[in-house]
Amino acid sequence: MSNWENNIRKVVPYVPGEQPKGNNLIKLNTNENPYGPSPKVKEKALAADALRLYPDPAASDLVAAIAKYHGLSEDRVFVGVGSDDVLAMSFMTFFNSDKPILFPDITYSFYDVWADMLRIPYETLPVNDAFEIVPEDYNKQNGGIVFPNPNAPTGIYMPLASVREIVSKNPDVIVIVDEAYIDFGGESALSMIDEFENLLVVRTFSKSRSMAGLRIGYAMGNPVLIKYLNDVKYSYNSYTMNRPSIELGVLSIQDDAYFKETVEKVIHTRERFSAGLKELGFTVLPSSTNFVFASHKKVPARELFTGARERGVIVRYFDKPRIDNFLRISIGTDEEMDTCLAVLKELL
Ligand SMILES: *Cc1c(COP(=O)(O)O)cnc(C)c1O
Repeated sequence: MSNWENNIRKVVPYVPGEQPKGNNLIKLNTNENPYGPSPKVKEKALAADALRLYPDPAASDLVAAIAKYHGLSEDRVFVGVGSDDVLAMSFMTFFNSDKPILFPDITYSFYDVWADMLRIPYETLPVNDAFEIVPEDYNKQNGGIVFPNPNAPTGIYMPLASVREIVSKNPDVIVIVDEAYIDFGGESALSMIDEFENLLVVRTFSKSRSMAGLRIGYAMGNPVLIKYLNDVKYSYNSYTMNRPSIELGVLSIQDDAYFKETVEKVIHTRERFSAGLKELGFTVLPSSTNFVFASHKKVPARELFTGARERGVIVRYFDKPRIDNFLRISIGTDEEMDTCLAVLKELL
């Protein structure tokens, strides 16, 4: 190769779960929501004529709807193209120290990818044997902290008192709490953004609002953090939020009844499915999310993953230290989960 290759930014990309073509498979591998977006979203005709115009760079209608929903002023809300975009922007904006940022060893596998891509030093801190984050471990020199709560792919929720401990002991850095799954269980750290100016809470429409295909995520924090995030966004791409996303995002967040109803259904199915897994001899970590993380006492997870795939049920398997004997199974409808249980039973 010629010298030009020396100056290329080389990265090892994040690998998302498979999106298979065709729809005769039961897809339980990327934590999508089986119920689809609010009927208000489904019924809305796309205003295609308006697509010739640039969208509002501030996405103000969507920001206003999200702010209203959470009872916040609009200067406390930042929106992006899914929470992946919001998190990547946040890493770029807030993690600029020579000291390493901290996150758990078992967590969302995009964090180390962004850190590497943006040349941010990082250190992972092991979760304990019960797969829980240990708050005291975060009481050390660092350039910032990020963790999901509930954590992924474990599904385990850390009590708010522990989140508070981490945020309050680290006043000199930004702490990002990635609440992709908070609607399925646990108390949000949102209640603490007035108290702690270094706290950023990140959410997504992809899981609890069943809008993964539209790509909407947002962050909430004190207005100074939001201003700095917007400064970076406007220095990178002014129009991250497209017109349909802004319009349909507003309709989604306004339909609270549908949102609550479908979240309740997912939680109910999760509990039913977890009980079924336990009956089959699985160890199931306590989940506060729309997926479960389970390991079988006798049959290796890799075999179950492959066998289920051959029988038309796709779940997620991570070939990584400490979790390579676990399956992460997204919660679909009751019917889908019954099929999943039947397939696993057959494989066992
Ligand atoms: C799914 C997920 C995200 C990203 O979701 P988007 O679809 O980009 O909004 C972020 N963090 C965690 C922990 C997730 O599981």
